[in-house]
Amino acid sequence: PFASVELAPRDPILGLTEQYNADTRPGKVNLGVGVYYDDEGRIPLLQSVRRAEQARLEAAAARGYLPIDGIANYNQGAQKLLLGEGSPLVAEGRVLTVQTLGGTGALKVGADFLRAFLPDAKVAISDPSWENHRALFERAGFDVVTYAYYDAATRGLNFAGMTDSLRALPEGSIVVLHACCHNPTGVDPTAEQWAEILEIVKARKLVPFMDIAYQGFGDGLEQDAQVVRRFADAGLTMLISSSFSKSFSLYGERVGALTVVAGNKEETGRVLSQVKRTIRTNYSNPPTHGASVVAAVLNSPELFKLWDEELAGMRDRIRLMRQELVNKVKAHGATQDLSFVVKQRGMFSYSGLSAAQVETLREESGIYALSTGRICVAALNSRNIDVVAAAIAKALK
Ligand code: PMP
Repeated sequence: PFASVELAPRDPILGLTEQYNADTRPGKVNLGVGVYYDDEGRIPLLQSVRRAEQARLEAAAARGYLPIDGIANYNQGAQKLLLGEGSPLVAEGRVLTVQTLGGTGALKVGADFLRAFLPDAKVAISDPSWENHRALFERAGFDVVTYAYYDAATRGLNFAGMTDSLRALPEGSIVVLHACCHNPTGVDPTAEQWAEILEIVKARKLVPFMDIAYQGFGDGLEQDAQVVRRFADAGLTMLISSSFSKSFSLYGERVGALTVVAGNKEETGRVLSQVKRTIRTNYSNPPTHGASVVAAVLNSPELFKLWDEELAGMRDRIRLMRQELVNKVKAHGATQDLSFVVKQRGMFSYSGLSAAQVETLREESGIYALSTGRICVAALNSRNIDVVAAAIAKALK
């Protein structure tokens, strides 16, 4: 029965990692990843996580099924991080949060829910966007379009293009917005620009689907949630997919959440019932371990403080790597102005390297980046940055 099954295209990022793994050169560097590495080049296991895990191990908790929507105080914790302590929306009963399998799971559950109730809506994603956005919404059955976003000439935001394309969307379209630390460009709108985007979203009756996978990697947990809060406080009905994969360094535990801000309390109940149905028919209920650990950290003032500090450590290290990369590429004789790299936010940088330059880096120096020029700044460290900077300076000549 599978004779006509065609080979699916290779995932570009995982394909690159396979190539990197097969490379036998000792000085090779993989900047194509989407993961935070510490200065030793390792995925960190946070102290806050270790302590919560130890406590959990000692408690020797049974592993029964969780409710369909997951662990209640995990959901509350995730919701509070997004909407803030004492959010009036929460008090009004207008918000629901369900535990999901990472941010991807939140997007998928949200997409399936939306497809059932807004089947004809278009879904608009940024150009470019996280490469899974298009496939995920198309798989859910949507027609996916793009809105202008990145301006290669300025290495910044094409704001006029963005607002033009948002205004041109049919009323009621779903618009996927990166709340902070845009993947893959690292370019975010300013607060003033967000205010204008919000006005367009309201005027065109667009349904925002905010994706926040890097909360804490921009300016801090509270600061990075400001856009989400402004949209929610504006009275909009919206969806939010959030992820703890990066902020807790718990990639493989699949810790995410889908939050929906509905029109009123009664509507929230109806939406929740349908979201739970989506989950029930997909994977029944989520796993226990990762979310228990995150919930323990979010609900303990002491562990929360420790986590916040560890997150700040990751954020600061990335900032330092951005600055050092710019300085060192310059010191190696490049004349191009790379200062935009310091202004970009989050783990990634659209470095401005062309596909040909990326290929040169790989062939001559064993440095792997995406052909779009996206590099993961969090994969740089004090041992590889000189080699990388020298190779980039050479490739730029
Ligand atoms: N959205 C964006 C913008 C992302 O970059 C990612 C992860 N790379 C996700 C969602 C998915 O996150 P998770 O790994 O938690 O599924």
